[in-house]
Amino acid sequence: MRLRPAREESVCPACRRTSRRVHSWYQRRLSDLPWEGIPVRIELRVRRFFCDNDECGQKIFTERLAETAPWYARRTRRQSAALE
Ligand SMILES: [Zn+2]
Repeated sequence: MRLRPAREESVCPACRRTSRRVHSWYQRRLSDLPWEGIPVRIELRVRRFFCDNDECGQKIFTERLAETAPWYARRTRRQSAALE
């Protein structure tokens, strides 16, 4: 499955300010629970945003999808839970 986040904005993890200004995109791969017995691999198009807060040291940040998977993970939270 090829997916992309529907939200138009993301929150800077350093200063918590919301940003809508996209810097770039990259592809992230996650494995998920099987669908009807078929293995599922998600190709997720993730964005990097500018942080426009002059007082923040984080000028560019990657959007977080914490409810789906930690930013470093290669599988979804629900697949990790099923494996555990
Ligand atoms: Zn920031």
